[in-house]
Amino acid sequence: MQRQLDLHTGRPVWSAYRAPRVPVRRLIRDIKTEVVVIGMGISGAMIAEALSAASHDVVLIDRRGPGHGSTAANTALVQHEIDMPLSLLSRRIGREKAERGCRRSKLAVANLHARIADLGIRCNLVLRPSLYLDGDVLSPSDMRKEGAARAAAGLRSLYLPPAALKERFGIEGRSALLSHGNMALDPRKLTAGLLLRARANGARLYAPAEATAIETDVDRVRVATEGGPVVLAQHAVLATGYELMDVVPRAHHQIVSTYAIATRPQPRSIWPEKALIWEASDPYLYARTTPDGRVICGGEDEDFQSEDRRDSLIGAKSRRISDKLLKLFPQADFTPEFAWAGAFGTTSTGLPFIGRVPRNPRLFAVMGYGGNGITYSQIASELIATALAGGEDSDTDLFALPG
Ligand SMILES: Cc1cc2nc3c(=O)[nH]c(=O)nc-3n(C[C@H](O)[C@H](O)[C@H](O)COP(=O)(O)OP(=O)(O)OC[C@H]3O[C@@H](n4cnc5c(N)ncnc54)[C@H](O)[C@@H]3O)c2cc1C
Repeated sequence: MQRQLDLHTGRPVWSAYRAPRVPVRRLIRDIKTEVVVIGMGISGAMIAEALSAASHDVVLIDRRGPGHGSTAANTALVQHEIDMPLSLLSRRIGREKAERGCRRSKLAVANLHARIADLGIRCNLVLRPSLYLDGDVLSPSDMRKEGAARAAAGLRSLYLPPAALKERFGIEGRSALLSHGNMALDPRKLTAGLLLRARANGARLYAPAEATAIETDVDRVRVATEGGPVVLAQHAVLATGYELMDVVPRAHHQIVSTYAIATRPQPRSIWPEKALIWEASDPYLYARTTPDGRVICGGEDEDFQSEDRRDSLIGAKSRRISDKLLKLFPQADFTPEFAWAGAFGTTSTGLPFIGRVPRNPRLFAVMGYGGNGITYSQIASELIATALAGGEDSDTDLFALPG
């Protein structure tokens, strides 16, 4: 059992756009399946689509419904660069593992791009360059070193000293690393598109259906749900986002609070190349645009989880986010039309935990997503699909759950 969190508050910008409806059923009697996926956010959707496409029998359950968790608050910058710079991650976990983590993220974004195209999912996907601005975590000289660390791992980026950054992007007094191959999209549309594909592949979707207890024995998993019905499966995937079930280890994982705003459409005031922007700072700022010219911007994370405290700060945090952005682009209007706050799961390395629950090989968990939730959901779908096909992904050790 786990506590139900208030995963987001305020009005995420995605409420301005229509996502396809995903039909679900009521769970009124016990059912059997090969794999039960708990959670219909972006992670559960990616996993269910991959498993059902590989002819596994899949059931999905969700206590709220498709895409109503943290996915609805996601600002959906889909980046291969992870929250912790490669140069710092190497010191933390060793160069070989850090480079492998960054390369895998890069592959995941490319794979997701191809997957969305193959499946024909319309989710306003656009490819964007990304600008990583210097800040109090990486100084301009650290930025150069970060560029060199990336190059040594085979990851291309271009260091832009202040004059070059000003000339190409109009940003004054900062330096940055420019890289390519990142994406921006609408997370509700992507989640709905994947769930509809899973459904078309034969997956059965039930909501609202809350998993209240999980028991495993040698040959099956028994998931009890609120109200009585039981799901019997050979495997369970816990894709419950930041609401971890009791069977999942909590070490090295923290839930914090984060904030975001979106402006009115202003296509004429957008900065050059519509680059994704993020900072090597703590607290950090990040920004993207939508195809109709809104600016979405977020950050200002706080180390607490208290929902009342988090929500009471939405006004002040929104003003701070727009003021920071105005310093970068004084010509634009960053008055928020939408402002929201959400729970956000982080790990000490910026890498997620994905894999089998220790001592419980029939259970898989995906957790600790930080700012790369969508990229890591793609990786989770790859690892779990390989494991259920009887293989082992070569990066299994990198993401293994603690304990
Ligand atoms: C403001 C904000 C901005 C973000 N920006 C980005 C970004 O730019 N890029 C990025 O990649 N990531 C970003 N993230 C992170 C991203 O939102 C998450 O990592 C991602 O949505 C997690 O998806 P999920 O499917 O794991 O979780 P969720 O979307 O929360 O889905 C989990 C689902 O499980 C269900 N559930 C939970 N417990 C149970 C239970 N016991 N029984 C049944 N169902 C259950 C919930 O109802 C929920 O629907 C952001 C997050 C926030 C809050």
